[in-house]
Amino acid sequence: MIIVLKPHTKKEEIDNIIARIEEKGLKPVTFEGVERTVIHIHGDSRGESNRFASIDCVEKVVKVMKPFKLASREHHSETTVIKIAGINGDVSIGNGEFVVIAGPCSIESEEQIMKAARLLKEMGVKIMRASAFKPRTSPYDFQGMGIEGLKLLKKVRDEVGLLVETEVMDVRDVRIAAEYVDILRVGARNMQNFDLLKEMGKINKPVILKRGSSATINEFLMAAEYILANGNKNVILCERGIRTFETAYRNTLDINAVALLKRETHLPVIVDPSHSAGVREIIIPISKASAAVGADGLLVEMHPNPEEALCDGAQSLHPHQLAQLLGELKPVCEAVGKKIILG
Ligand code: PEP
Ligand code: MN
Repeated sequence: MIIVLKPHTKKEEIDNIIARIEEKGLKPVTFEGVERTVIHIHGDSRGESNRFASIDCVEKVVKVMKPFKLASREHHSETTVIKIAGINGDVSIGNGEFVVIAGPCSIESEEQIMKAARLLKEMGVKIMRASAFKPRTSPYDFQGMGIEGLKLLKKVRDEVGLLVETEVMDVRDVRIAAEYVDILRVGARNMQNFDLLKEMGKINKPVILKRGSSATINEFLMAAEYILANGNKNVILCERGIRTFETAYRNTLDINAVALLKRETHLPVIVDPSHSAGVREIIIPISKASAAVGADGLLVEMHPNPEEALCDGAQSLHPHQLAQLLGELKPVCEAVGKKIILG
């Protein structure tokens, strides 16, 4: 159950409600917003709602049937806006604009990453994706540059002025990565790595949480709940395709999920068309579909020279294809009342 208090309720009134909840053997958890305070009640509170609803300073009592509480729109009706400060101005995700995060699958060398960064900058992309730690199916494939890669991302941030985003796979790397990059990512394979999620909850950097390839929406939102419940409110959900019987492409982009998540949760929702598709040929149309269905942005792979890529070359857009995508996204975003942000 959630108790939403009227704006500017006094502290003694809040303390009084908390005491009444505790008297019933229930656990209150208080969230203080700018205007109003919300109290979550953990435990079996059935039968108590009328009693709490009749208290003067209570605006409404919401019975939450869903297991995800903090991620739900019942807890927070407005879409969460995640603001990231960059040296060339702030970028917001979830504020009604459409954000494109683009870049290579992995950091391969200084030359490759700086070239990619400069290309993105020229196109007006403000946030670069690139992984230093790679979750590869085979242990014999390229595993990423590790900390050296993080240092190169910092160089991109300082010298090219882009915001940078990267995946973290190991709990021990969370705090180190947070020193080098602006946004951390939990990859699909780690969506239910609960220790990693808890650690992501303790940092004050935005986290992109990818949906596991066989995760239900409920499991996805419960994974987000782990990060939120540990104190980090800056979670961005990312639909990246799910595993189905279809083998003609890498995964099946679950467009339904984007529409449903936008209804059920206040967290921004972005789409990764690259890992959904696995082939670059269909990335432009599925990206436009994502914008049309209400996504807040994209996480898309672009490589300066995909033929040479050490990872995911077949699904990486050529630079000119990313430029084409950005152009074609504009009218789609406008049609759904969003503006694509390009620098
Ligand atoms: C990635 O974004 O580089 C990646 C590995 O994607 P996913 O976790 O969705 O497979
Ligand atoms: Mn990839």
